[in-house]
Amino acid sequence: MAWETVIGLEIHAQLATKSKIFSAASTAYGAEANTQACEVDLGLPGVLPVLNQHAVRMAVKFGLAIDAEIAPYSIFARKNYFYPDLPKGYQISQFELPIVGIGHLDIDVDGESKRIGVTRAHLEEDAGKSLHEDFHGLTGIDLNRAGTPLLEIVSEPDMRSAKEAVAYMRKLHELVRYLGVCDGNMQEGSFRCDANVSVRPAGQTEFGTRAEIKNINSFKFVEKAINFEVERQIDVLESGGKVVQETRLYDANKDETRSMRSKEEANDYRYFPDPDLLPVHISDELKVEMQSEMPELPDAKKQRFMTQYDQDAESASILTSSRALADYYEAVVEQSGSEARLCSNWVSGDLLGALNKAGLDIEQSPVSAERLSGLLKRISDNTISGKIAKQVFDELWNSEASADDIIDAKGLKQITDSGAIEAIIDSIIANNPAQVEQYLGGKDKVFGFFVGQVMKETQGKANPGEVNKMLKEKLKR
Ligand code: ADP
Ligand code: MG
Repeated sequence: MAWETVIGLEIHAQLATKSKIFSAASTAYGAEANTQACEVDLGLPGVLPVLNQHAVRMAVKFGLAIDAEIAPYSIFARKNYFYPDLPKGYQISQFELPIVGIGHLDIDVDGESKRIGVTRAHLEEDAGKSLHEDFHGLTGIDLNRAGTPLLEIVSEPDMRSAKEAVAYMRKLHELVRYLGVCDGNMQEGSFRCDANVSVRPAGQTEFGTRAEIKNINSFKFVEKAINFEVERQIDVLESGGKVVQETRLYDANKDETRSMRSKEEANDYRYFPDPDLLPVHISDELKVEMQSEMPELPDAKKQRFMTQYDQDAESASILTSSRALADYYEAVVEQSGSEARLCSNWVSGDLLGALNKAGLDIEQSPVSAERLSGLLKRISDNTISGKIAKQVFDELWNSEASADDIIDAKGLKQITDSGAIEAIIDSIIANNPAQVEQYLGGKDKVFGFFVGQVMKETQGKANPGEVNKMLKEKLKR
């Protein structure tokens, strides 16, 4: 039987506020355990939460960016459950009346655009962390993360493959970083995903029973976890069984999902409005203000790069994959005065290649836009050849020198003196009579041999165009 996969994602994006959502404690990552949790985060008696307005502003900004309805009035609710890393015995979240309502995000998969619905996005606080290592069979609790603001973004069950789910997750990741509402750091848990997965016979309209895979923190694992889960559910159904609604965990080491708890054991959260917090009113003025702070968004930037810089869709996607990279590219185009295509070849080719290899982000590039521009200027004005440029780039990467300094110090200037090149060509022709005969006899491939010899002789410094032209002339058939 043919099966269709149905996926809906719940994504938790940690909002990039300095302090927590209901207290003044710092949200900075990596501090010594339990040094950044105050009375409010600990839920001590007699304290009251105060809403961080920056978290609200970020949620509104996000909502506007996905064309969503922003609720003029929303409320916080208590989600009650008992767990050691949740000091109050309830999590402050939103249930009915979330701050962001229905919106959408367009994804590209295999060159096709698809619209994915966003059901809602709500504000909530994060819990602390249980530490199972280093405590000799006991569990340690670090409450630094308790009270960190989260935006939970819930999608419609609109995705039909693991690939679409990953495309959606990536797009959302790109968007929150563009907006500056989340740093997107997945290793630190700033952006994580619960994947709801079901399968149904192709053509059937009702959805199948879903399993929810919790807390996946990398794009690769989302794809693998979903693919494993789809196969598992198909196996269950094809062998006559039923998929049970449950929560599962993905084990990356074994590349499998495992049952955590079934629906029967699921918590009854006993949601109710939090009496300690006032309702949130969003004015039209705030929406206008947030709209005015909106940066150029990824889709618009990509379109502009395609027309303004003559990029194809793929290249424009790469160059606009982060705001920092897009800014870097535009700085290079402007400062080097070089052709947009030459700049994109260098930025997405050589530079990104080197950064990937070194495991660095564009913000950490050892070669600034200004220094790369210095190199591209010298390619554009024919001071150096493209090949020599690679050598200069390596030096840029490993030193602080400018391209001009490197070119001077190493004597890498292209030989444009045609007399000098001609002399070299003449001697190569004289010294290789057999190859000359072959070429003149019709063996086109031998031409490359001559070009290679000239380049070797000149240590790559002859202008390749010039060399080709002259050789053609000298070896006329
Ligand atoms: P819960 O609060 O129990 O997690 P929701 O109704 O909020 O339930 O749904 C959570 C997520 O599950 C949403 O992203 C939704 O799109 C997705 N979802 C719902 N039904 C299905 C299904 N049958 N198959 C796959 N995903 C589903
Ligand atoms: Mg859920």
